[in-house]
Amino acid sequence: MDCPQEEDLVDYMYGHIHEDIRRIMGAHIRNCKPCGNKIFELQKTKVPIDGLFLSNIERGSCITDKQLEDIMCGTLAFLEREALIAHTHICKDCRQSLCTLNATFDKYVLALEKSQKDGSV
Ligand SMILES: [Zn+2]
Ligand SMILES: [Zn+2]
Repeated sequence: MDCPQEEDLVDYMYGHIHEDIRRIMGAHIRNCKPCGNKIFELQKTKVPIDGLFLSNIERGSCITDKQLEDIMCGTLAFLEREALIAHTHICKDCRQSLCTLNATFDKYVLALEKSQKDGSV
């Protein structure tokens, strides 16, 4: 695909785009240095929100079931997701929950994708 517009990158970061597009863009951004850099720059402007969020994680607040679901569904903003994943690296309980959820995830996401396609986004 062509390089996404900046506004699309912003939507990607905030998770405001459809999961299919998000997946395609994610793959592109990982392989495209200019886009990776742009995301990096854009993230700096998000610091106030994410700084708050990250400090929650650092305080050791565990991931809620809802957040776990969001991780699995890919509905989280880029940084939020990264922060939660980072938490699972330091927190055995949350890692365990994520693993448990992972096991049932395939069925779940199939149902979800179906329902997303049926409804208008
Ligand atoms: Zn690109
Ligand atoms: Zn935890």
